[in-house]
Amino acid sequence: MRTPVLFAGHGSPMNAIENNAFTREWQRIGKALPTPKAILSVSAHWYTAGTLVSDVPENRTIYDMYGFPDALYRVAYPAKGAPELAARTRALLTPDARLSGEWGLDHGTWSVLTHMFPKADIPVFQLSVNRRLTAHEHFALGQALRPLREEGVLIFASGNVVHNLALVSWQTQGGFAWADTFDMAIRDAVRQGAYDQAVDYQALGDAARKAVPMMDHYAPLLYALGAAEAGEPLEVFNDARTLGSLSMTGYLLG
Ligand code: ZN
Repeated sequence: MRTPVLFAGHGSPMNAIENNAFTREWQRIGKALPTPKAILSVSAHWYTAGTLVSDVPENRTIYDMYGFPDALYRVAYPAKGAPELAARTRALLTPDARLSGEWGLDHGTWSVLTHMFPKADIPVFQLSVNRRLTAHEHFALGQALRPLREEGVLIFASGNVVHNLALVSWQTQGGFAWADTFDMAIRDAVRQGAYDQAVDYQALGDAARKAVPMMDHYAPLLYALGAAEAGEPLEVFNDARTLGSLSMTGYLLG
């Protein structure tokens, strides 16, 4: 038995407390998935110098967003950590990774998991996105995570394929043309199992420069694809752009 691999486009933190088409999809997927032994969350919002694996036994809920309504700061996601699996993960990623006791669960993780696994009764541990790595290196780390799938761990990557906050337009419902172009090109590559095209996203030129101004939100996708194998069953969900410059597209592989 191999657990599936998941990439979710988390979008606005407000999704944590909203009931909308995106959050209902997360709820549906959570119900459909076999209950994993633990969840390894690769979150855009732990963007660090170095690759860190959180080994805390108890997670604090981290409110790493500013200027939102009070209700968002009252969300708690008290899932336990998984120190032994963190050590196992660090070993798989040696020599690149080290353990860290400084983190908990950031909103990249809890804004989605609060819908997907609302009981918070499955241990969750996070892997950071190392700001020093290239797309190829992120993909390779994802490949190194594959054995966790045989051990009951759900690899859950949370980011956004298109994420440009400087260009967000709160009045815009869908995506700008370049955002649609980029998101659909990546989606088609994933559908074809052409993961190398997702790694070499910069070949998409101007659309790529706008969609991925920093690697933080894109890199989680590369972990999910690295941990998957071309030819595995694929479900694309929340295939949509919002606020002009964000995509919500998610992938369930396996
Ligand atoms: Zn984010």
